[in-house]
Amino acid sequence: MTKLRLAIVGAGPAGIYAADLLLKAERKFDVSIDLFEQLPAPYGLVRYGVAPDHPRIKGIINALRDVLDRGDIRLFGNVRFGEDITLDDLKRHYNAVIFATGAVRDTSLDIPGIDALGSYGAADYVSWFDGHPDVPREWPLDAASVGVIGNGNVALDVSRMLAKHAEDLLVTEVPRNVYEGMKNSAVTDVHVFGRRGPAQVKFTPLELRELGELRDVDMVVYDEDFDYDEASKDAVASNKQVMVIDRVLQSWRKLDSVNNAGGTASRRLHLHFWAKPVEVRKDEQGRVAALVYERTKSDGAGGAVGTGEMREIPMQALYRAIGYFGSPLPDVPFDKKHGVIPNREGQVLETKSNQRVPGIYATGWIKRGPVGLIGHTKSDAMETVRHLINDQGSWWRPEQPEEEAIPALLQERGVLWTDLDGWHRLDAHEIALGEPEGRARIKVVPRDEMVRVSRD
Ligand code: NAP
Repeated sequence: MTKLRLAIVGAGPAGIYAADLLLKAERKFDVSIDLFEQLPAPYGLVRYGVAPDHPRIKGIINALRDVLDRGDIRLFGNVRFGEDITLDDLKRHYNAVIFATGAVRDTSLDIPGIDALGSYGAADYVSWFDGHPDVPREWPLDAASVGVIGNGNVALDVSRMLAKHAEDLLVTEVPRNVYEGMKNSAVTDVHVFGRRGPAQVKFTPLELRELGELRDVDMVVYDEDFDYDEASKDAVASNKQVMVIDRVLQSWRKLDSVNNAGGTASRRLHLHFWAKPVEVRKDEQGRVAALVYERTKSDGAGGAVGTGEMREIPMQALYRAIGYFGSPLPDVPFDKKHGVIPNREGQVLETKSNQRVPGIYATGWIKRGPVGLIGHTKSDAMETVRHLINDQGSWWRPEQPEEEAIPALLQERGVLWTDLDGWHRLDAHEIALGEPEGRARIKVVPRDEMVRVSRD
C-alpha cells in the first residue's frame, strides 16, 4: 500500500486537528505524520494565547492531547522551521507538508507617536501573561492610566488582565513571574477604545459579561455612546449576539459608575465607543502621555465616519489589540498584505503567478487570517486535508522517506528536540509544581528549563 509521509509545521490546534482528520479520513493509503513545533511544548495558541483565567477554553487541550496520545503522530518540539529543518529537508523526507503556524504578531497601527515608550502590541502582553518562553520575564505595569485600542476579544482579554487583581489569578495556571508582576501593578483606569459603536463590536457576550464580574473593578460606560441610529437599532434587533451585548452594556448604564460618576472600586474599566485613535502624545522622555482620538459617528450602514471633534485621554501606557498578523516562513510563498500563505482552499499558491505549489498546504490562521474561534479551525483543516488526499498524484517523491532519518538529521545538527514522552514529563512536572498550592498547574516559562525537564 502507498504511504503518505506527512510533515505538519505547527503543533497548535490547526496542526493537530489536521493530523487527526487525516488519520480518520477514508483514504486508500497509509499515513505517517511528524508534527514539528518551534516551542518545546505543543498546543500553540491554546497554551500561549488563551488567557490563564479562561480554563474552559484551555480545556480544549484535553481533546488535543487525546489526539497526540493515540500514538500514531510523532512530535518534534523545539525545532525551528527554516533553521533546524528547512523546506528542502522536508522535500527529501516527506511527500507533503501542511503549514499550521498561526498568526502571532500584532497588526501595526500607522498613527503618529505609536512608537512611544510604553506603547505595546497586545500579542506581546498576551505572550507575557501566558508564560511564552521567548518574551522577557518582566513586564512594566507602572502606568496608572492605560489605553487599549480595539473592540475584539483580544482587547477584552488584555483589558481584563490589566484590570484584574493579581490575587484573583492565583486559582489559575498563571506563571509565578506574571503573578508577581501583576501584584505590583499601579493601574487604576483602563480605557478601551472602539472606532465604531456598541452594536458593531467584534467581541462576544460571554467575554464582555465577564468584565462586569471582576472584583473591585467598576465598569464605566458613557451615555453619549448609546444614541443609536437605525443601523444600530437594526443590528440589535436582528442579531442575537448583538442583542445580548447591548443588554449587558445597558445594564452598566444603570450603575453608579456610569459617565465616570460615583463608583467605589479601586480600579475602573472604561468603554469608549465612536472613538478612532489618531495620535499618541509623548512626554519629553518619549513615553506615552495621552491618546488623542477623533469622535466618530455612524455612517448609517454599520461603519463610522469622523466628526472632526478631537479628544484626549491622559495615559502612561497603550496597547493595540487590532488584530493578529501571520509571519513569513523561509522559502514558502507569503502574502505580505494579508499576513497569510496565499492558497486556494488550503492548496498553496505562488505569490505572483497564483500557480499551485505541489506538496505544500496551509491550514488555520496562516491560511485564512486571524479570525474565528478555535473550533472553526476544524472545518478549515477538513478542507485542506480533502485536497491533500485528492492530490496524491502531485505529492513529492522523497529520497529518504524512512522515519529514522528525521531523528538522525536533528541529532546530526545538534538540535535538542523534545518529543511526546518529553511533553508528558513536562506536563507532569508543571502539575506537580501546582499541587502544593492547590492549583491545577504552574507553567514552566524559560525555554532551557522546559527542554531540560522534557529531555530528562
Ligand atoms: P478582531 O475580533 O478582528 O477585533 C479587532 C478589533 O480591532 C475590531 O474591533 C476592529 O474594529 C479593531 N480595529 C482594527 N483596526 C483598527 C484600527 N486601525 N483602529 C482602531 N481599531 C481597529 O480581532 P482579535 O480581537 O485580535 O481576535 C482574533 C480572533 O480571536 C477573533 O475571532 C476572536 O473572537 C478570537 N478570540 C477569542 C477569544 C475568546 O473566545 N475568549 C479570546 C481572544 C481571541 P472594526 O471592527 O471597526 O474593524
